Amino acid sequence: MMNWIRDMIYTLFHAIIYPLLFIYEFIQWNRMTKKRKSLQETTDANSHNDSNNSRFEGDDELQRIRELNRSLTPSILQSIKMKNVAKKKILVLDLDETLIHSTPVEPFPQFKRFYQYRIDVYLDQDECSFYVSERPHLKHFMRKVCEWYEVVIFTASVQSYADPVIDRLECSDKISRRYFRESCANNQGVFIKDLAVLGCDLSRCIIVDNSHISYMWHPENAIPCTSWVADDDNDDELLRLLLLLDALRYMNDVRSVLTLRLKG
Ligand SMILES: [Mg+2]
Repeated sequence: MMNWIRDMIYTLFHAIIYPLLFIYEFIQWNRMTKKRKSLQETTDANSHNDSNNSRFEGDDELQRIRELNRSLTPSILQSIKMKNVAKKKILVLDLDETLIHSTPVEPFPQFKRFYQYRIDVYLDQDECSFYVSERPHLKHFMRKVCEWYEVVIFTASVQSYADPVIDRLECSDKISRRYFRESCANNQGVFIKDLAVLGCDLSRCIIVDNSHISYMWHPENAIPCTSWVADDDNDDELLRLLLLLDALRYMNDVRSVLTLRLKG
């Protein structure tokens, strides 16, 4: 009799306790699921606005500083960049043996592949022909520098010869000014290019020339260039120059970099 009563109580106890435990576990699981879902939605929303937001959530001071930086930094960087490139710097380019090579003598057949065109000009009322060869990568070079700089051609050649050659350059319509032999200083038969004729701030002026005599009055503005006489179609000097010119356009004073080679 006692055993029967004990078994009955034991059975009733389990019949009540287990369902209660099951209901309690279900309520806890349901609550945790809702909480996890809520946190996930909050994280997703923060990630959408800024992936770093959740890191500083609840920290008002850090949040304020971060938002201040985020609002100011791009505008400061942009203003510095715009200040230096808003007004294009001046790039003075030599013509012969820097950008092109020409010869009044008809090239031998084996060298004709180097020459793209011929111009017929009058020099001292005599008609002359020049066979002109463009330095490798010239078209690409001119497109880039005309985009980055105000490009000026300064040549020691006479205008009657140089003008038609400049007209054939890529982006010739974007070349702002042309200076010829008469603009050079004649120092005992040596032609020197005086950048003062440009009337510009020399901190924003660069000259590229194959002749160091040409820029001897302005070595701190010069980028030396190898001479090219249509003898090497693997020449990559213009590509090499582009790397430096790309960087110099952001400088306040180009001489701060270009004078480094003089100190070496
Ligand atoms: Mg030259």
